[in-house]
Amino acid sequence: MKKKVNIPIFITDTGCKNRCSFCNQKHITGKQFIFDLEAISSSIEIALSTLCDNQSAEIAFFGGSFTGLPIEEMQKLLDISQKYVNMDKRVTGIRFSTRPDYFSAEIFEVLSLYKITTIELGVQSFDDKVLAKNCRGYENGIVEKISREIQQRGIALGLQLMAGLYGANLESDFKSIDSLCKIKPNFMRYYPTLVIKDTELENLYKLGDYIPYTLKQAVVAGMYAMKMCAENDIEIIRMGLQSSVELRNDDIVLAGPFHNAYKECVYSEIYYTFFKKMSEKSKVIVPMKIVSRVKGHKKMNSLRLPSFEFEVVERLVEDIEINGVRYTFQDILQSIEITR
Ligand code: SF4
Repeated sequence: MKKKVNIPIFITDTGCKNRCSFCNQKHITGKQFIFDLEAISSSIEIALSTLCDNQSAEIAFFGGSFTGLPIEEMQKLLDISQKYVNMDKRVTGIRFSTRPDYFSAEIFEVLSLYKITTIELGVQSFDDKVLAKNCRGYENGIVEKISREIQQRGIALGLQLMAGLYGANLESDFKSIDSLCKIKPNFMRYYPTLVIKDTELENLYKLGDYIPYTLKQAVVAGMYAMKMCAENDIEIIRMGLQSSVELRNDDIVLAGPFHNAYKECVYSEIYYTFFKKMSEKSKVIVPMKIVSRVKGHKKMNSLRLPSFEFEVVERLVEDIEINGVRYTFQDILQSIEITR
């Protein structure tokens, strides 16, 4: 099977008319919808020229609310993309991210004229109180409705959630993950909320009204997401920092569970929770490929389990052996309970 890749076109911050509490508005207000169509064409062509024979690609519009663009602008981008879908068999379709409430019969009609293969919705939470407190501007019913409409059209669906939003707690975040699993998207992204400069969340944080998650809380939320998504066969394509380059700038992130290896921390804690159920003097055989996850970020698990012996081997791929018994990661997830 061919490996799927994205040909990313960043339409950063365009198409959005909202003011979510955690989003840096300065970069959004006043943005013009003027796209350099020639530049878009040439970046698609450059990407295609580097595509290997064993790869297929979707042309992917990221970073904005695609269906929030004026329809004629959206169509210009779709026309360009469809041209490559028609003339290059390696381009399997078009993909974009948007908000769940930026759809209408007219938009679906326009979309039906193109080969849309994947839509990602920034959902953030399924808790109506949390959605309202963060000025998302819609209620969870619309997410379910639009998700179904996308799925009924045979388009792959991705949903994005955030942990620890203003007004959320682990209980509401666990429930949001349960709601996402009921919809059964093809994949999800999971981001712990960070306090970003020049956001409403910054004001709330400075007033003491918003207390961000600790890293420990964010990891617990991530563990639950990982367990539930594994049980429901939902791929987690990203967990941790949002892809914005700006977040790597220290001045931009003011507070919150910022960690470069958040996903690794989640894996480590899952292994640790499992190991705690074993006898104190256990021997763990670990494949080289996953040694940092099993022994923990900065060897945290080895330090917390001093009587455990870890032996690193090349022969296993991703299963581990404990006291001679082999366990898949799925076995491990199934056997642990994640509590708030
Ligand atoms: S988070 Fe998304 S929907 Fe909310 S204001 Fe920012 S760009 Fe718009």
